[in-house]
Amino acid sequence: MADRAGDYIAGLFGAEDELLASLREEADRTGLPPIAISADEGRLLQVLLTAISARRVLEVGTLGGYSAICMARSLPPGGRLLSIEIEETHAAFARKYIDRAGMADRVEVRVGRALDALPSLDGERFDAIFLDADKEPLPTYFDWALRLVRPGGLIIGDNALWGGRVYDGDESDERTRGVREFNRRMATDPRVLGIIVPTHDGVAVAVVR
Ligand code: MG
Repeated sequence: MADRAGDYIAGLFGAEDELLASLREEADRTGLPPIAISADEGRLLQVLLTAISARRVLEVGTLGGYSAICMARSLPPGGRLLSIEIEETHAAFARKYIDRAGMADRVEVRVGRALDALPSLDGERFDAIFLDADKEPLPTYFDWALRLVRPGGLIIGDNALWGGRVYDGDESDERTRGVREFNRRMATDPRVLGIIVPTHDGVAVAVVR
């Protein structure tokens, strides 16, 4: 949210510790896509996971591990985060920082395509899923989220506003169509109760009924 309200919220709730600041700096310097979540979105994830006493979390799209570290910090001892990443180089970067953050015992970064990895998890149960990867398959990710997340758990999707393209964008863009359809389901599927929180690029949150 590039406005005064967003700046105020980020200033109050978006403090970054040294580890996350150096992760962001090295990611920028070494050419990782500059699309990690903002610090106040990290705080939002922590509030949400803490509210439901999450112990087992699934992330789709690790990138440099910024959100994984934020979420892992909200898990109790024995809690586990599984994060799926398609790019081996991103996964290696993320593992390095997860290790530095002292979270290697609770975070596993698995390399692969989410559309292959999600079916391999069928039958497992997660307290929450954070979707922050490619946007075209978001409706399919939503279907998997409903299979994998327990009742009372959370489906969370980053970039729900998609830089404004969800309301101003072109229907011919597949990624925009994917985000729009995901948002529509978060709003209207009777199996969830959802909302978009208008952060930096919007975080969609739904509780599974
Ligand atoms: Mg994102």
